[in-house]
Amino acid sequence: MKRFQIPTLLILLKIPSVLTFPLPPDDLDFAKQYLKQIYSFKDDSSILLQGSKDAFKASVKKMQEFFSLRVTGELDYSTLEVMKRPRCGFRDVLRYNIGNLKWKHNKITYRIINYTQRLKESYVNNAINNAFQVWSDVTPLKFIRVLEGEADIMISFQYREHGDGSPFDGPGNLLAHAFSPGANIGGDTHFDAEEAWSNNSEGYNLFIVAAHEFGHALGLSHSQDVGALMFPIYTYINYEDFVLPHDDVQGIQALYGSSNKPDRKLHPVTPKKCDNSLSFDAACTLRGEKVYFKDRFVWRVHPNRKTSDLLVTNTQWPFLPSKIDASYEDKNMNINRFFQGTKYWDVYGYDLIPTSPGSIYEFGFPQTVKKIDAAVQISKTKKTFFFVENECWSYDESTRRMDEGYPKLIEDEWPGVASPVGAALQVNDLIYLFHQFMVFRYDYNDKTVREIAYANSEICI
Ligand SMILES: [Zn+2]
Ligand SMILES: [Zn+2]
Repeated sequence: MKRFQIPTLLILLKIPSVLTFPLPPDDLDFAKQYLKQIYSFKDDSSILLQGSKDAFKASVKKMQEFFSLRVTGELDYSTLEVMKRPRCGFRDVLRYNIGNLKWKHNKITYRIINYTQRLKESYVNNAINNAFQVWSDVTPLKFIRVLEGEADIMISFQYREHGDGSPFDGPGNLLAHAFSPGANIGGDTHFDAEEAWSNNSEGYNLFIVAAHEFGHALGLSHSQDVGALMFPIYTYINYEDFVLPHDDVQGIQALYGSSNKPDRKLHPVTPKKCDNSLSFDAACTLRGEKVYFKDRFVWRVHPNRKTSDLLVTNTQWPFLPSKIDASYEDKNMNINRFFQGTKYWDVYGYDLIPTSPGSIYEFGFPQTVKKIDAAVQISKTKKTFFFVENECWSYDESTRRMDEGYPKLIEDEWPGVASPVGAALQVNDLIYLFHQFMVFRYDYNDKTVREIAYANSEICI
């Protein structure tokens, strides 16, 4: 099997996510600018220092509240980390719609004023057309392209300060913004001309950003649902796989009603952590954290935090498939291994190891195995167990071979655990094995199940 050696220097340079340190002045300036643009923070140096501090703190709190972070008013590492993610420049205001602004007509015109040098004109035209279709599929709205004159939605690529009081910031961070429906600038949509626009997963996908911005141009504000298209942070989904999430459908139909065309699409609902029927696709430890995958989402549970953070898997690891079958942490190699179908990916922190993806047959599986349900490395024995349907395999990481005598029936090797096992990880001295909505907390030394609980009890905190 291909192996990757991690340079020691890289390990030394990596900053753990829990580290606290005094903020560099650049970060404070960055945060102030972010809060000014997104949360209407007024950095008025003429007011008394304490007043200014209080206003800053209040603004940080608003932002933490929006992103379901711990509301402290302090600019801690996780708050800054969220602030630094690439996003839309529209303000984060709760409620679908600000002041009930909407177009009074169902035939809405748009015009593409200029193009980006990063993409062929035909790609831009397609991305814009597809992005409008996201909304016209679920409403009575029709979008008509015009080539000249004034249109409802004027679309352009703009540099830095461009005369509307919301300057762009060059590559990264703010990607685009749009104005709510109305006359003149109302509905207009601007893309930061300095971004690496693409029609794939590289840089920023124009289709997905345009579909989000047109939501604003039609009257939607940001959603707190991390799975929603109207969530303010950029998340890549390819056009072929994209289905407008349920939250956005509800938002737009509250303004314009539903389409009279039949809608056979299943609009995805973001899973809820306190739903007792929740099951996981995969689970693993990751440098002290516990990580649980479901559909295209991931919950991260930090040992020092009293909450679980829900993210879209691809915002964390854009190179992984959106849905994971199995994963485990190889603590010797300091890597995490993710499986989907017959492929696996090795990841060092947030970085993909260049030999990825590999094939599961490198581990010694027969060709009849097409998918792995779950995987876990036992820290005491350094062996990795793979679960496939009602069987399990033991893999020796040092010899890189499957152990003799496997596969065995799960019911023989793990008595008391129901199969199939959908996800597994080690928590302290116990192995947690997930079957549907249940977790079996298993003592591997005694070969006994210590406890059975709802799977979601791990994240409903
Ligand atoms: Zn937005
Ligand atoms: Zn603008």
